[in-house]
Amino acid sequence: MIHHVPLRPPARDFPADEWNIIEKGFHPEFLAQLETMLALGNGYLGMRGCPEEGGPNAENATLINGFYETRPILYPEDAYGFAKTGQTIFGVADSKIIKLFVDDEPFWLPNAHLLSYDRRLNMKSGTLDRDILWETPAGKQVSITSRRLVSFANRHVAAISYRVTLLNAAASLVISSEMAVSEPSILTNANDPRQTRAFAGRVLHHQTSYAKNRRIVLCHETEKSRLTVVCATDHALETSCPYAHKVSYTEDFGQVTFTIETQPGCPIDLTKCMVYHTSATASPEELCGRAEWTMDRVMAQGFQRLLASQEQYMDDFWRRSDVRVKDIKEERTKRSTVEIQQAIRFNLFHILQASARAEDTGVPAKGLTGKAYEGHYFWDTEIYLLPFLIYTSPRIAKNLLTFRYKMLPQARARARELGHRGAMFPWRTISGDEASAYYAAGTAQYHINADIMYALRKYVHATGDESFLWDYGAEMLVETARLWLDLGFYSDAKGGKFCINSVTGPDEYNTVVNNNAYTNLMARENLRYAAQTIESLRAAAPDAHNALVHKTGLEPSEVEAWIRAAESVYVPYDEKLKIIPQDDSFLDREPWDFRNTPREHYPLLLFYHPLNIYRKQVIKQADVVLAMFLLGDTFSAEAKKRNFEFYDPLTTGDSSLSSCVEAIIAAQVGDTGKAIRYGVAALLMDLADVGGNVKDGCHIASMGGTWMMLAYGLGGMRDDDGMLSFWPRRAPEDNAVLRFPVTYRNQLLDVEIGLENVEYTLREGEYLMIHHKTEEIQLTRENPRVVRPVSRG
Ligand code: BGC
Repeated sequence: MIHHVPLRPPARDFPADEWNIIEKGFHPEFLAQLETMLALGNGYLGMRGCPEEGGPNAENATLINGFYETRPILYPEDAYGFAKTGQTIFGVADSKIIKLFVDDEPFWLPNAHLLSYDRRLNMKSGTLDRDILWETPAGKQVSITSRRLVSFANRHVAAISYRVTLLNAAASLVISSEMAVSEPSILTNANDPRQTRAFAGRVLHHQTSYAKNRRIVLCHETEKSRLTVVCATDHALETSCPYAHKVSYTEDFGQVTFTIETQPGCPIDLTKCMVYHTSATASPEELCGRAEWTMDRVMAQGFQRLLASQEQYMDDFWRRSDVRVKDIKEERTKRSTVEIQQAIRFNLFHILQASARAEDTGVPAKGLTGKAYEGHYFWDTEIYLLPFLIYTSPRIAKNLLTFRYKMLPQARARARELGHRGAMFPWRTISGDEASAYYAAGTAQYHINADIMYALRKYVHATGDESFLWDYGAEMLVETARLWLDLGFYSDAKGGKFCINSVTGPDEYNTVVNNNAYTNLMARENLRYAAQTIESLRAAAPDAHNALVHKTGLEPSEVEAWIRAAESVYVPYDEKLKIIPQDDSFLDREPWDFRNTPREHYPLLLFYHPLNIYRKQVIKQADVVLAMFLLGDTFSAEAKKRNFEFYDPLTTGDSSLSSCVEAIIAAQVGDTGKAIRYGVAALLMDLADVGGNVKDGCHIASMGGTWMMLAYGLGGMRDDDGMLSFWPRRAPEDNAVLRFPVTYRNQLLDVEIGLENVEYTLREGEYLMIHHKTEEIQLTRENPRVVRPVSRG
C-alpha cells in the first residue's frame, strides 16, 4: 500500500543533478529537512547541514557514533528482565560556526539581501559547498564561498575552507570562528516513539579547556556513561590585507576572531580544522594530547591535501559502488533519468557517510544525520545495509560484523537473564546492552539473531573470508543456534514440529505471536548454517574446531540437535488461501478498516492504541514478503505471487523498511506498476521526504534497500545458495539501461543490463566464476567479457 505522495521543494530552486544535491535559494521552510539531507559524516563523526553561521537551524547537531548518555528506563509497572538502562546519542560541541560581520553588519541568512545563493552536497568530492553573493544594506557586495568536509581518511577530522572577498568596496571585517557546547532543547514530540528523548539535567561536564595560539581545546565528560570527548579547533588565515586576531574561551565556548581591513578584490582565506576524539578509558589529559597530535598533522597538511584525500576516497568508493542508469522512461516513473540517478547516488553516498569509519560501533538507524531512534543500532544494519557493503566495501562489512562479535559477552548475559542458553543480541543498542524500552516491539524481535547470522553467511560467501568465519563467525553461530534450540520446542499440537512461540517478527503491528513465519524460516537458516560450519570446521581446521569446543563447551550432540530442529521447523501454511500465514493467529484477526482510515492517520502507531492495532489484520512492514526476498529459493514463483497479492494490500508501509522490499517482490511477480511506485517511493524516501520525517534524519535502511532493489530486483542478482548468479529479466516496455559493479571474492565485476543483452565484465582481478541463470561463466584477465541475451516478459 502506498499512501504518501512524494513532496518536493520547488524544482526551480532544487534542480536535479547527477552528482549534487543543489539548493539554489535559501528556503527557511525546508531548514530541518535540508539539515538532514545535506549532513556530512564518515561513520564516526557527523555534522548536520546547518549554515556556517551556525543558524538559523532546526537542530545544529554534531554527533559522534557511539557517544551516548545513559538514563534509567522507568517503567510505571516494572517486570523482571525489562531493559533497565537507556542509551541516547548525545550531541557534542558544535565547532563549525563561522560568523561574518562586514562593517559590524552581521551576515544572517534570513535577513540578508542575497544576489546569488548556491549550496550543494557534492557527492563526487564528499563536500558541502556554498557560494553566496551578499549585498549589505550599505551596498557592499561580499562574495562568501565555503567548502566543508568530514574526512573519510582521517576519521577524527572535519575542516572548512572559507573565503570572503569584498567586490566593490573596502570594509572592516570580523570573522568569528566559534565552538560551543550547548545542551539543546531537542526536537521532541512526546507522542512519537521514534524521536529521541531529552535529558532533564546537564549531561556534559567540563574537564578542561585551553588555548594555544589560534587553537582551542575543550574537554568534557558525560555525567553517567563516563565518556570523554575532546573537541579542538585550529585556524590558518591567508590574506594580503592587514589583520589582527584574538582568542578567548570559557568552559563551554571557544572563539577566535579575526579583524581585517579589506580592500576590494582582496580575498581572505580561512581554513578551520576541527578534531574530535572520544574515549571511555583515556584521561582528559591523554585525550587532549591525542587531539593535538591529530591537529598538528592536519594543520601541517592544509585544506587542499585534506580535500585531495577526500576526493580520492570518493573516487575509489564510486569506482566500486556507483550504480548508473540510462534512458529511464519518464512517463512510467514520473521522474527523469537525472532525478533517478541523483537519488541513487544520494542513497549510496549517505550509506557511506553512515558507515565508512564505524569502527568498533554499529550504524545508527539514522546514520549521523539526526538523533531519532537515539543513535541506536538495529537489524537494519545486517538485513538492509550489509548486502550493499558486502558487495562494494567488504572491509566496512567486516568491521560491522566484528562489532557484533564483540557484543557476544553481553548477548550471552542477556540470554541468561531471559532464561535462555546461548546468546541473545539486543534489539536496539549502542553499548551492546539491550536498550529497547518496549519489549513487545523490541526484545521480542528474536529474529535479529538470525538476521546477523544471515549477513555473516552472505559476507563469507561473497568474500571467501573463511578465517573470519572460523575466528569469529563460528562462535556466534554456536551461541545463536543454542538460543533457537532453547527457545523453540517440539509441539504435539503442531504434529511434533519445532515451533517458536511468543516472538515478534519484523512486522511490529503483530507482536508476541506464535510461529512468526519469518522468524521460523530465518531460525532454520541459522541452525543449518551453524551445523554446516561446525562440521566443515571440524574437517578443515581441527585445531580451530578444538579451540571453539574448548571456548564454548560445544557437545557433538548439540550439532545433531540443531540439524534435527532445522529439519523440523514448523512453517505455517494455509491450504485454503494457499499462503504462508504470517503467524499462528494472523488469519483469525479482524480485518483493519482501511477504507475509513484517513490518510493523515498514518503511520497508525501515532494514532491508535497498540491493542487496537495488534488485534487487527494490518501490517507495518514487509514480513512474509521480506522472507520471500531473503530466502527466495525457498518459494516458488507461484507462491511468491499468491503471498504478495495477499499481504501487499494489508501492509501500510508505516516503516520505511517496507517499500524497497515490496518493490523487489512486486517486480519478481511481474507487477511492474507496483514495482515502479514502491521503487520510486523507496528511492525518494529522503530526497522527497516521503515519510514526512526526514527532518529527524535519513532512513539509512531504506537507502540500503534501494541498492537491493537495483541489484537483486532489477539486476536479477541471486546469492541465496552461496553462488553468485544473475537472472536479469525486463518488462517488455522497459528501455532503461542499468550498470552496477559487484566486488566478489576480491574481484571487481561490472554488470550492464541493456535492452537486449547483459554484459559481464571482469574489471579488476584475475579470474571470476559466476552464473548467468544456470550457466557457469568464467571471466579471466584474458577473456574478461561475456555477453548473454536478457529475457523479456
Ligand atoms: C521498524 C524497525 C526498524 C526501526 C529502525 C522501525 O520503525 O519497524 O524494523 O528496525 O524502525 O529503523
